[in-house]
Amino acid sequence: MRIGQSVLKLACLDGQPEIFYSIQGEGRTAGTPSVFIRTSLCNLHCIWCDTDYTWNWEGTPFVHENDARPGYRKFDKKTWIKRCSIEEVVERVLAYPARNVVLTGGEPLMQQSALVALMHRLRQCDASYRFEVETNGTLLPRAEFEAVIDQYNVSPKLTNSNNPARLRERPAVYFYFARNLKAYFKFVVAQPSDVQEVLCLQERYGIAAEKIWLMPEGSTRQKLAHRRRWLVEVCKIHGFCYTDRLHVQIWGNRKGV
Ligand code: SF4
Repeated sequence: MRIGQSVLKLACLDGQPEIFYSIQGEGRTAGTPSVFIRTSLCNLHCIWCDTDYTWNWEGTPFVHENDARPGYRKFDKKTWIKRCSIEEVVERVLAYPARNVVLTGGEPLMQQSALVALMHRLRQCDASYRFEVETNGTLLPRAEFEAVIDQYNVSPKLTNSNNPARLRERPAVYFYFARNLKAYFKFVVAQPSDVQEVLCLQERYGIAAEKIWLMPEGSTRQKLAHRRRWLVEVCKIHGFCYTDRLHVQIWGNRKGV
């Protein structure tokens, strides 16, 4: 593998690649100290996305709920993408004590080759590195990616995301992850009709209930509080797991935490 030639396009915050040390805030490994690497670029455009600086570029037609907010502007692609060599990313990750690494985005599976190179390089430094990837469930992992990843956090998007169904629901990918022992599904739920959609997808793709996490939609504490109690009851009825958004609870709607 020609590691030296691989380049990762990462989200850029204050001129630096978005690589930070925190706890996993959502899903099966919530609470685990982790190093986060946020890739830029996404092939979907969720209306409530809280990492819109990875895809909502100037000159694109995509709508976002923040459009109504005074002062909200689309993002300049050059400013918000940081191109990094694998060695630079490795150096930054090694500076943190955690060995759980979360590859997040954007949509990380758009950059599989570079991420495979990164994972191999980190494991050369310390074999105990463990890798999770957060994906929107629209892209199939390649064999070399499957071979090194430890966990998929698959978050299929529902109608509430405002993406057309033909873009967000890829049957071959859903079937792949439904049968993959490393994969867990996390659905963002805002209202009762979302639960009906989850149940339809569960049946259509044969997703085991114990592989499903439901998470309230919301990037503020108030929104999460409003939906939490109702959603926990939904989980109890259907045998799904509930996940909160710990980072929002602790830090609010802040980037890089
Ligand atoms: S798939 Fe994820 S990163 Fe992409 S727009 Fe939706 S929420 Fe944002």
